[in-house]
Amino acid sequence: MPELPEVETVKRTLNQLIVGKHIERVTVNLPRIIQRPDDIQQFAFMLEQHTIQGVERRGKFLRILLDGLVLVSHLRMEGRYGVYRAEEPVEKHTHVIFHFTDGTELRYKDVRQFGTMHLFATGEEFQHPPLAKLGFEPLDPAFTADKFKAIIRTKKTKIKAVLLNQAYIVGIGNIYVDEALFRAGLHPERIAHTLSEAELDRLHQAIVDTLTEAVEAGGSSIKSYVNGQGEMGMFQQRLKIYGRKDEPCHSCGKPVHKTVVGGRGTHYCPSCQPLGTVAVSAGKMKRKR
Ligand SMILES: [Zn+2]
Repeated sequence: MPELPEVETVKRTLNQLIVGKHIERVTVNLPRIIQRPDDIQQFAFMLEQHTIQGVERRGKFLRILLDGLVLVSHLRMEGRYGVYRAEEPVEKHTHVIFHFTDGTELRYKDVRQFGTMHLFATGEEFQHPPLAKLGFEPLDPAFTADKFKAIIRTKKTKIKAVLLNQAYIVGIGNIYVDEALFRAGLHPERIAHTLSEAELDRLHQAIVDTLTEAVEAGGSSIKSYVNGQGEMGMFQQRLKIYGRKDEPCHSCGKPVHKTVVGGRGTHYCPSCQPLGTVAVSAGKMKRKR
């Protein structure tokens, strides 16, 4: 599933590809993608003759800004946008097509069909699901270590579950939670409120650094999208822990473990991320018993 860095890359790509384009009409082939309004004909009608002014991101959601309207789009597992010339054949699993007056089309393709689109009048989108009640943007300067600590200190569940909850912090999913916890040297099953001040500082920094680096990695590949179909980038080759079961830990060389935490496949290094309290002394991490 695309997480903050991938959605950010899609956002930047769409900003290069579709801003200024004028919608002539909209085709919806799979009504269930459209969550608001209920009537897909109304959805299509409302978007006609509107111009795309920009694309923003809130958590893992895209906000496609039009004059007077905002289309909130979630890619979920496999959703992808691409810009095509109208004469190009429409690929299988293309569920929504925005036909532009310049002879190009923005096509939404989704093999798994879990993606969603909600259409709002500008400004209304934050008062309703799915954007209402979302937590902090982790790359916003307002997401300080103090704000982060205030959230974590009150939670009596596993730290991984807290970090995945979009009501607290948005945009982090299974992959980047594992990456951030590895970077911070914290076991994913540590109970949130037992983390020390120093551990919380490390984790806050790890979240910000992990996401920033991934966004930069995605940003560097934007050029290759411009002539193509605007498909999102995946940066798996840069992952330090996720998906590396039984491979040597980049830090200590011992094999990476895989387990299940809160129903989610979870990668960690038992040696670098011990379950006991970790004390940092003289630059070395020791396990307290
Ligand atoms: Zn290790």
